[in-house]
This record gives sequence, structure tokens and C-alpha cells, in this order.
Amino acid sequence: MVGCHAMGTPVVHESGGAHGSGTPGTSQMAITIKRDVLLVEIDRHCFFPGCNARISIGLTRLEVPEYRGFECTHCKRWNDDQLARRDIPEWWDEFNSSGTFS
Ligand SMILES: [Zn+2]
Repeated sequence: MVGCHAMGTPVVHESGGAHGSGTPGTSQMAITIKRDVLLVEIDRHCFFPGCNARISIGLTRLEVPEYRGFECTHCKRWNDDQLARRDIPEWWDEFNSSGTFS
């Protein structure tokens, strides 16, 4: 028997209900422009060989300029990382114009 009671994996709860995001029939991006609200969600893979877990990272507008990496939810190791233009194409110019990523 294999139990999973000791995983201790943090569960990310999205605020505002669990009915899922995405509205069919529209081409608008699921980005809400509000302070402290999830702005972008990026997908990463853990850099460490043997783990390579897929990590989904949600960042708010306030967290984007501070983003320096993430903790792997699988192996708990820190991955140094930074955002690229492709991660936040809608916001890159705004954040980068102030020299955030220079
Ligand atoms: Zn990992």
C-alpha cells in the first residue's frame, strides 16, 4: 500500500471560486488587470536532472518585477529563474521600460 499522506505538497487555491477559468467563445486572454490578482501564469520545468517536474507559477502584477525563481513543488529545491519576454508579452514593455529587467 502506498499512501500519500506525507507529501505535504502545497495546494494552490485560486481565489474567486473553483469553477475554472476560461470562457469559451472569446479570444480574450484570461488576464485580469487588478492589483493583487493573478496576472500571468507561467509554466516551468524543474531544472534539476531526475526531477524535471512541471511547475505552474502564478504571478500577480506585484510579483512579476520581483520574480527571481521558484521552489520546485516536487523536490523542494530552489530554481533560479527569470521572466522572459515570451512569458509576459503583454506586460514586458511596461515592466521593462522602467528598467526592471535591465
Ligand atoms: Zn524538482
